[in-house]
Amino acid sequence: MKSQLLAVVEVDKIDRVVCQAQGCGHGVYRRIHVVRHHDGRLGVYGSDCFDRLFGDSIDRTPRYGGGEGRLLTAEERLMLVENTERFIAEFEAEHKVLLEQAGLRREQQEQVELATRECNDRLRAEEARRRPPTPGEIASVEREAKAIVRRKFGVDPDAAGWRGLVMAEVRKLLGR
Ligand SMILES: [Zn+2]
Repeated sequence: MKSQLLAVVEVDKIDRVVCQAQGCGHGVYRRIHVVRHHDGRLGVYGSDCFDRLFGDSIDRTPRYGGGEGRLLTAEERLMLVENTERFIAEFEAEHKVLLEQAGLRREQQEQVELATRECNDRLRAEEARRRPPTPGEIASVEREAKAIVRRKFGVDPDAAGWRGLVMAEVRKLLGR
């Protein structure tokens, strides 16, 4: 397993924590790097020591949280110092919740988009129903319409006087 940058965090200056790089021992409060070493051990380092120890051999995007160090609460700071494993577990849980929320938001967004699309489709269909039939549409059902008029009313549908009846049947056939 490669070493992995888990989180970059920040604490108030008076709460600075000790950099765990060998021979360093400096207090760090800004851009504190929490690293999972290849052997599974956790380490907490200032950014200088982080650079010195890992250089380009590590992915510099932290696994949890953003690249900007989040300021820790007093409670979190205590956890970071006293129980780094637990601190990271909490950080991971928080990260998971954030991911889930983002997923949920995406899902809701997709539902809204789907509903909007369906609504637009219905409106378009409604519009198509309302506009008068085109000559092509009329021609496509005219024969049938005339046959219906002849059958229903016993009149000659080709006579000019019955054009209205024919058109009424045309509309019915077109679903208008
Ligand atoms: Zn250091």
